[in-house]
Amino acid sequence: MTPRTLSRLTRRGFATALVGLPRKGEAAIQGSFVDRTIEMGHRLRDGAKFALPKREERVPLVIVGGGCAGLCAAWKLLKRGYRDFVLLEMEEAAGGNARHGENEVSAYPWAAHYLPVPGAHAVEVRELCEEFGLLRDGQWDERHLCHSPQERLFLHGRWQEGIEPEIASTKRDHEQFRRFQQLIAEAAASGQYTIPMERGRAGAKQGSSSAERAKPTATPLDRMSFEQWLRAQGFDSAYLHWYCDYATRDDYGARASETSAWAGIHYFAAREPEEKGPLTWPEGNGWLVRKLMERVKPHVRTGQMVHRIERRGTGRRVWTAETRFDCDTVIFAAPTFLAPYLIEDGPKASPVPTSPWLVANLTLDRPPAERGHPLCWDNVLYGSKALGYVNANHQSLRTRPDRFVWTYYWALADGDPRAVRQTLLDRPWSHWRDLILNDLQRAHRDIRECVSRIDIMRQGHAMPRPVPGFLESKERKALAEQAGSLLYAHSDVSGLALFEEAQYRGYRASEKFLKRVGKA
Ligand SMILES: Cc1cc2nc3c(=O)[nH]c(=O)nc-3n(C[C@H](O)[C@H](O)[C@H](O)COP(=O)(O)OP(=O)(O)OC[C@H]3O[C@@H](n4cnc5c(N)ncnc54)[C@H](O)[C@@H]3O)c2cc1C
Repeated sequence: MTPRTLSRLTRRGFATALVGLPRKGEAAIQGSFVDRTIEMGHRLRDGAKFALPKREERVPLVIVGGGCAGLCAAWKLLKRGYRDFVLLEMEEAAGGNARHGENEVSAYPWAAHYLPVPGAHAVEVRELCEEFGLLRDGQWDERHLCHSPQERLFLHGRWQEGIEPEIASTKRDHEQFRRFQQLIAEAAASGQYTIPMERGRAGAKQGSSSAERAKPTATPLDRMSFEQWLRAQGFDSAYLHWYCDYATRDDYGARASETSAWAGIHYFAAREPEEKGPLTWPEGNGWLVRKLMERVKPHVRTGQMVHRIERRGTGRRVWTAETRFDCDTVIFAAPTFLAPYLIEDGPKASPVPTSPWLVANLTLDRPPAERGHPLCWDNVLYGSKALGYVNANHQSLRTRPDRFVWTYYWALADGDPRAVRQTLLDRPWSHWRDLILNDLQRAHRDIRECVSRIDIMRQGHAMPRPVPGFLESKERKALAEQAGSLLYAHSDVSGLALFEEAQYRGYRASEKFLKRVGKA
């Protein structure tokens, strides 16, 4: 199990640059927030007035949003020989949640940091992997597969190998983990849990696995929480509950008690059991973004925030501060919670619940003290509110063993997301610096003496949250089924924040568009 994890962010224009005060005997830790587009997003929310643009342009298709979904939609169109489109991205760099940064020590991710080796259902991801040279003649290129050692867990004062808690686990814990794995294997065999999720849900026979049969009869799995489902199976191991809660915080930014049981099971059951990997790079999924950009760059316009999408006869009018685009179709690959603010005939309220996140990149000038299993790619602290850290240098062939960049992940899953978003904005950089260091100090007592820099990315609406009822909701299905001049393509249409889902939604939208213009 792994956690998850923005492109070269220009240091220019960052919202805040705060320098922390050192404690006695410590060097100053430098750092800042690196999330300047929060303010731009709030202008959309607050209905700010934008000046009329000076330019007008006519183009058949506009893609809004240059995250992986938008970039994959563009890539698919080019593969089909279709070139008459532009992609508008509000940030200075494309990539969305797969952007990365870089300093003198290493490249590092700002959010997504790995791609699981795609299974048989993920044909589009395999196609992409082949084109990018990751998969040749059925063989995965070892250089891109995660090197060992992969994962460790800090538990009872020392690091153990793997993140399934072992130290002080009982026979009862082991028995419950075994039974849980058995239920997951049966769920996987039902064919209902696939990536992309749409393939499994449409094709699978309901009620064929004991995971399905074990549910209270009238309540489909999407109607109850993952935690309720675990308890209904008789699971009471604190270690197993921690493990499952870690998984939902990790992939959905939500506690197991607030995640649909279907989504919780999907996390474990949708992957190939003997999967290698994952595929990962120092810059995380920024590597995939670079490869996509090599192909689609001439169509991408960055620094172009769309503030309005209107209906215009059978087509659409798209507004940025610089240009008014008249087009036949819009592929909306920006996060769907923005639709009520941007799209004239869009949903009246956000159709997607979202999770707030914080990601920090820490530069260490020397390795910190620790006890037990050595540093891994993924390093998790049992009982922490955060998700631990990934060593960005892990895959690098240029690794300097004396200096590191650690990417620290924190899904702010506790409490009302609106209140948490406000706290995320209100508290200064030094507040978050101290919480991060206090957390890490449990495992590395001299961490404050090793870290020279902490840069922090705050995201109020980082990813969709598959709360009970959302995956089966008519609001989500309406987004997925939308046809005509507006096609939704963001990964949150799936309700599962995964590269594969972003790519699938981008692909599907471009196929719908090509069909609409008679080029399918
Ligand atoms: C902390 C974190 C870690 C993650 N880790 C992983 C991981 O390891 N592996 C994995 O597979 N997935 C991971 N994910 C999920 C990740 O979100 C998806 O993999 C994928 O990158 C989402 O792509 P997307 O294009 O759907 O959305 P986004 O990445 O959200 O892209 C949307 C784009 O739209 C742009 N935009 C927004 N508003 C406008 C506007 N008004 N005008 C123009 N452009 C606009 C944004 O700037 C952005 O570039 C992670 C997510 C987070 C938050």
